[in-house]
Amino acid sequence: MKSAAVVNFAPEKNAVEIREVPRPVIGEEDVLLEVANVGVCGSDLHQWTADHSWPVNYPVVLGHEFGGYIVEKGSRVKGWKEGDRVVSETAASIDPDNPMSRRGLYNLDPTRKGFGYGVDGAMTRFVRVPARCLHRVPDHLDFEVACLTEPCCVAFSAVAENTHIRPGDRVVVLGPGTIGILCAAIARLCGGEVAIVGLEKDSHRLDIARQYGCDVIIGDATEWSRQRDGLGADCIIDAAGVSATLKIALQLVRPNGHITKVGWGPQPLGFSLDPLVQKNVTLQGSFSHNWPIWERVIALLASGQLDAKPIIGGVWPVTEWHEAFDKMHKGEVVKSVLKPV
Ligand SMILES: [Zn+2]
Repeated sequence: MKSAAVVNFAPEKNAVEIREVPRPVIGEEDVLLEVANVGVCGSDLHQWTADHSWPVNYPVVLGHEFGGYIVEKGSRVKGWKEGDRVVSETAASIDPDNPMSRRGLYNLDPTRKGFGYGVDGAMTRFVRVPARCLHRVPDHLDFEVACLTEPCCVAFSAVAENTHIRPGDRVVVLGPGTIGILCAAIARLCGGEVAIVGLEKDSHRLDIARQYGCDVIIGDATEWSRQRDGLGADCIIDAAGVSATLKIALQLVRPNGHITKVGWGPQPLGFSLDPLVQKNVTLQGSFSHNWPIWERVIALLASGQLDAKPIIGGVWPVTEWHEAFDKMHKGEVVKSVLKPV
């Protein structure tokens, strides 16, 4: 039995098409998941437009933001049964003996391979998942929302783990994509006064961000950053998909402030980092997430403290991936969600 899958087949631009793929064979520590929904990530778009900076194992089924039902399990899988509603972490392959894995930071194991670039992802009907990646989804949490646990975990990791926001901190988020908006939402939960910054063309996405209780700025955030005492914002979360926004972050941050960079782009920087030194600023990268973050984010989604629904711009069958990708690429929607056919 074969199913339609969104396959990225070569390193060139636009090398994505629908192919019929066989049902995966699972190992003894895996489950087979029947995908309910899968989110389109900025990184799926980057692979489609071939401006990504990570190695891809072509051809590969795209998609790493997903949830579904267990339909089959390997002989050594314990604690799960067929029919369980689950979401899956993204670290499809790790070295359990890597020192980072041994301390629970397997997301930072350099040999880690993720769904959608290292191994086949979830933009299809069935996906093979190691049981250690699974998390239970409460019955009342729809899969259209639950499939977005992954980007919520990226935001939680950047804001609640890698940035130390205290109530009342002024926080500027650069970039109104999925990660930027979710970072703004988490920064609000942490007690920050939050502004999210975008360009004129981002006005639709900024309107959605407004629903999360943050201020919205088109263009220059200098005045907002300096509003309290003239010195700048306490924290900058850089969630834009280019490197150059770091220059803006360095301008907006206050002395002894903090910048967390979670958005990435392969272009080199073309400016001096002297303001980083002169202002005694901490610059922190943020990548991926691990087990305790997933459990916490599912709890936030289940309780309604974090609502991912407003960012969903539509649900398309995988065979209509092109429209779903294109709308997100053009910024007409914040997040596209797919379902298998
Ligand atoms: Zn993602």
